[in-house]
Amino acid sequence: MTLRVLGAIRLSRNTDESTSPKRQTERIDWWTAGHDCELVHIAEDLDVSGKVSPFDRDGLGEWLKDENAHKWDVLVAWKLDRISRSAEDTLKLLKWCEEHGKRIVCVDDGLDTETKMGRVWIQLAAIFAEVERSFIEERTQASRDELRQQGRWAGGTPPYGYTKEKREDGGWYLVEDPERAAIVRKMARMIIDTAGQENEESYRSVAKWLNDEEVPTPRASNKRGWSNTRVKLILENPTIRWGKAVHKGQIIEHVKYAEPLLSTADAFRLDTAMSARAKAPRGRAPKAMLTGVVWCACGEKMYRSSKQTKVLEYRCSGRFNHRTGCTMKNVKAAEVETFVETEFLNLVGTLPLMERIEHPASDNTVELETVKVRIAKLAAMFTSGALDEEDENFTASLHALKKRRKELAARPNIPAWVEHRPTNVHYLDIWQEGDDAARRSALLGHSAKVIVQAGEPGERLTFRMDPVDAEALTAA
Ligand SMILES: [Zn+2]
Repeated sequence: MTLRVLGAIRLSRNTDESTSPKRQTERIDWWTAGHDCELVHIAEDLDVSGKVSPFDRDGLGEWLKDENAHKWDVLVAWKLDRISRSAEDTLKLLKWCEEHGKRIVCVDDGLDTETKMGRVWIQLAAIFAEVERSFIEERTQASRDELRQQGRWAGGTPPYGYTKEKREDGGWYLVEDPERAAIVRKMARMIIDTAGQENEESYRSVAKWLNDEEVPTPRASNKRGWSNTRVKLILENPTIRWGKAVHKGQIIEHVKYAEPLLSTADAFRLDTAMSARAKAPRGRAPKAMLTGVVWCACGEKMYRSSKQTKVLEYRCSGRFNHRTGCTMKNVKAAEVETFVETEFLNLVGTLPLMERIEHPASDNTVELETVKVRIAKLAAMFTSGALDEEDENFTASLHALKKRRKELAARPNIPAWVEHRPTNVHYLDIWQEGDDAARRSALLGHSAKVIVQAGEPGERLTFRMDPVDAEALTAA
């Protein structure tokens, strides 16, 4: 007797070409022809989720009614997930087929209920597919924030200069894209090396260089080439400087995402060069070295006179504005700057600039919970008799999961922590190589303050700053 084949096709909304109805039909035809069977009908369910029970589907459901059972012998589908994605529904269908003497074949899964072993396999396949899927879903939901905490890349387009890489633990990390990282470094160098000089490079001239060199833009689709805004955005990215990431416009302070592309010293210089540029457009004098550092005894800040005056001086803004009725005499810039330099470098000159290193938290709560769920599901399968304890594959899986659970439980959860590590740049280097803006940043970073009082030159200046970080001292 020629067996009569009922084909089943299912397509949900979001699927690709490889699951097209045409492809599914071809595989059903192929099996039918190869087994000398006769195709009576193909039940089509397009735009139907695999979570809908086969009995409830418009196409297939009709053929699974008891009164239509005599019309066919074998249910043939391309793969098991075309019949159902639910273990419970699959088991229900298996039971119905057994009661009605029907056979199920999933061509590309190699599943066929003709034999007893085939029936066991299709049950296992259904259960495992479901366990795997719930495992994946749980992970996807729980993981995004978790991953952000742990310094993994949570998704999206990596910053220019980086690419993402999958690691052994399944997370994605940002790693250097060698070609693009070299471009970023060159861009930064152009800005750093010419900062404050006559031949100062602008973002526009950097963009011109990139276009002249025919460096591809971050997105190849951008036919207009590099723009000054693009250059600025790339150089502003905190990841290339400090290894930090930005989420919704905020720098995430407590997580280090990647190795910075620039050395700490260069990051510092680039920062200075770019902020000087933002605050002082070309043609206007950059901030004096001691703006915000030198204070008058009356409580007002002192500012440096503009370059038109013969001798540069800091003068009390209170006096200047007639606000405080202050009568403080101006103080020569050379005098106060030399004083600060001596005092400051005396205290910290030979100390290295400290690099802040963020160590991400190591939290395995999510993975541990997931492993526990998998063990429970597998154990339930043994108990229900769906799995045979003699089957080595499954006892091995259970043992592997239990071993992983033990490992995870033994590994402590470590909260994120910050380390201060010395760099090879010393404060002296900033004085020798940096500009006024860099020196000013260093001073403000230590809350350095000079108070000017009435009195003779050399006696009227007092220097204060925050106590030097104990870690910085031991590192020296
Ligand atoms: Zn004053």
